[in-house]
Amino acid sequence: MKKQSLLIFTVIFVTSCAIHRPIPVDVLIANGSVYDGTDSKAQALDIGICGDEICAVSPRGKRSYTARKTLDATGLVVSPGFIDPHTHTFLELRSNDKNENLNYLYQGVTTVVTGNDGGGPPHIPFAVSQLNKDGIGTNVAFFTGHGSIRRLVMGIEEREATEAELIEMELLVENAMKDGSLGLSSGLYYIPGQFADTQEVIRLAKVAARHGGIYDTHLRDESTFNIGLLAAIEEAIEIAEKANIHLHLAHIKALGVDVWGQSIPVIEKIENARSQGVSISADQYPWLASGTNIRSAIIPQWVRADSEEAFMSRIRDSGMIERILSEIKENIRRRGGSEKLLITASPEADWVGKTLQEISELMKLTPAQTAIEMAQIGSPHRVASYNMSEEDVERFMLQTWVVTSSDGTNGHPRKYASFPKKYREYVKEKKLISEQRFIYSSTGQTADILGLHDRGQLKVGKKADVLVFNPDTFKDNANFQQWNALSLGVHFVLVNGKLVIDDTQFTGQLVGQFLKRSTRQQE
Ligand SMILES: [Zn+2]
Repeated sequence: MKKQSLLIFTVIFVTSCAIHRPIPVDVLIANGSVYDGTDSKAQALDIGICGDEICAVSPRGKRSYTARKTLDATGLVVSPGFIDPHTHTFLELRSNDKNENLNYLYQGVTTVVTGNDGGGPPHIPFAVSQLNKDGIGTNVAFFTGHGSIRRLVMGIEEREATEAELIEMELLVENAMKDGSLGLSSGLYYIPGQFADTQEVIRLAKVAARHGGIYDTHLRDESTFNIGLLAAIEEAIEIAEKANIHLHLAHIKALGVDVWGQSIPVIEKIENARSQGVSISADQYPWLASGTNIRSAIIPQWVRADSEEAFMSRIRDSGMIERILSEIKENIRRRGGSEKLLITASPEADWVGKTLQEISELMKLTPAQTAIEMAQIGSPHRVASYNMSEEDVERFMLQTWVVTSSDGTNGHPRKYASFPKKYREYVKEKKLISEQRFIYSSTGQTADILGLHDRGQLKVGKKADVLVFNPDTFKDNANFQQWNALSLGVHFVLVNGKLVIDDTQFTGQLVGQFLKRSTRQQE
C-alpha cells in the first residue's frame, strides 16, 4: 500500500515536472497566427524548432520554452515556406550572383521546383553538382525533362523515335527517377517536345509512374496554335490514364482571344476524368499576361524546326517568306494583336517597354516583318503577351486542384511577385479565395502533389521551412515597367531551420538543399 502511494506520487510529480519544464529549442516563433499547411484555419500557436526540424507546437503561451532565438510574430501570419512547383531557376542556382534566390525568398518561397516544360536536366547528380558550391538560398527539386532527354538522344529532328531510341530515353528517365527526380516534365508545345507523339510520352511517363513520380506538362496547345486547347487537355489525360500516373497541368490557362471562356469546358473535362479516378492537379500564376520569347510566341513551329541554320535559310527563302509572314500575322492576332505584345527584355535596350506595334512603327515595317527581324537576333527578346481573360484566371483559381506557381522568367514580374500578388489581389482585395485556401494551395497541397512529404506543413517532425509575413503589407512590388523589384511584407524566413530573412533583411545564409521526391505516404 505504502509502495503503491509512493508510485502514484512519483507519477504525478514526474508528470507535473514534464508540464512545467521549459522545452529547449533553437528557435521559437511565438505569438503568431499560424496556418499549419493542412487546409485548416489559423490557430494561435507557438512553434519550436530544433536543428532543421519542427520539434514542438503548442497553443500560444501555454508552454514555456528556452530558445536560443525567439521571433516575435505578434500580428503576423506564420505558415510553412511556400513551394513553387514551376520555376526556371536552374541558371540562377548555378550562378555566383543569383544563387541566393532572393526574388523567391522575398515571395515567401523556400522550395523551388525547376526542370519544367520538358527542359529538366537529364542527369540529376550532374545537375546537383552544378548548383553553386557556396550554397543556394532556397531548396530545389528537379523534374526530368522529356524535351532534354529527346534532344540528347535524337537532337531536334522532326520525326518519331525508333524503338532503340525509346529504350534509351526510358533508361534516362529510370536513372533520373532513382536519383530523386519528381517525375517527367514535358513541353509538347516546344521544340523538340512537339515532335513526339502521345505514345512516346506515355512510354516515358510509365517509367516515372513506376517510381512514384508524376507527369508535369506544358500542354501541346494552350490556344489554337495546333491541336487546340481542349484536344491538348484530352491528350494529357490520355497520357495520365495509360501511364497510370498523376497528371499535373503546368500554368493552366486559356491563351488567346480564340479560347477565352474555354476554362469552362477545360474544367469540365478535368472534373470528369477526376471522377473516373484519374488523379489530376494544376498550377497557375496570377497574371493576365504570359511571358516567353518572341520566337516561341509567334514564329511558326515548322519555321523553327531542325536547326538554327534551317531556321535562317527558311526566313531568307523568298519562296517561303509570304507564307511565313501570313502565319506570323495570324499568331499575332491570336495573342490579341501587336499592341498586346510588350517587349520586356532585349539586346536592344530602347525596345524594352515598347509593344511590337510601336517597334514596327519605328522600323517602318509590318509587325510580322518586325518579328522576323527580331527573331534573327536569337531568343533573348522576351515578350509579355496580354492574352488571358480575368474570368478564366479567376475560374481556374477557384478550383480545389489548382495550386500557386510563378513560372518565373526574366522580363516578367511573375518571377518576383506571383505569391504576394495572388495574396494582395485575390485574397485581400477581390476576396476571391480565403487566406487559408491561399496558404494551403501554396504549401501543403503542393508538397503533397510533388511528393515532398517532409515539407509544406508545420507539424512536429517536418522540416523547418517557415515563413512569417505581415498580412497588411505582404504584396507585390514588381510590375511590367519594373519586373525585378523584390516583394514586400516578408518578415522572417527559415530554410531548414536556419534564419535566412530576419526582420525583413537577408542574413546571407545559403542553406537550401537539393530535395528528392519522397515515397508517397498513406495519410
Ligand atoms: Zn511552360
